[in-house]
Amino acid sequence: MITFDLECEKLHRFEGWFKNREDFEAQLSTGMISCPVCNSPKVKKLPSRAAVHTSKGSSTPPQLPAQPREILSYYRALGDFIDKNFEHVGEAFADEARKMKKGEAPARSIKGVTTPAQEEELAEEGIEFFKVALPKYDA
Ligand SMILES: [Zn+2]
Repeated sequence: MITFDLECEKLHRFEGWFKNREDFEAQLSTGMISCPVCNSPKVKKLPSRAAVHTSKGSSTPPQLPAQPREILSYYRALGDFIDKNFEHVGEAFADEARKMKKGEAPARSIKGVTTPAQEEELAEEGIEFFKVALPKYDA
């Protein structure tokens, strides 16, 4: 399950939950995604928010619950955890994650935004990160 931040033609922002990126693309191309505020099907995906958690960061993040009904409280707990423990690097996220991997920057827990192209690059370079969907990340 992944979440994407979406925006309609009238700039309402909302979050969509999908099985994976293909599921999102399929729903988007068939007009199945609409804005919860104005119902517009003209929706686009915003840059994702992503985070890297290193062992040098503080405590362990909350574990994904087995019960789907607990998923919202899980995301709330994860959001609190990230707020407290992650340094916000904004659009420098991909660069910073890369520097940490090469040892050019101190290993720490960071959060920021990525584009799909950057996510693919990071994945190809073997840099582990996870996607998060937290509206309060907007600086
Ligand atoms: Zn709208």
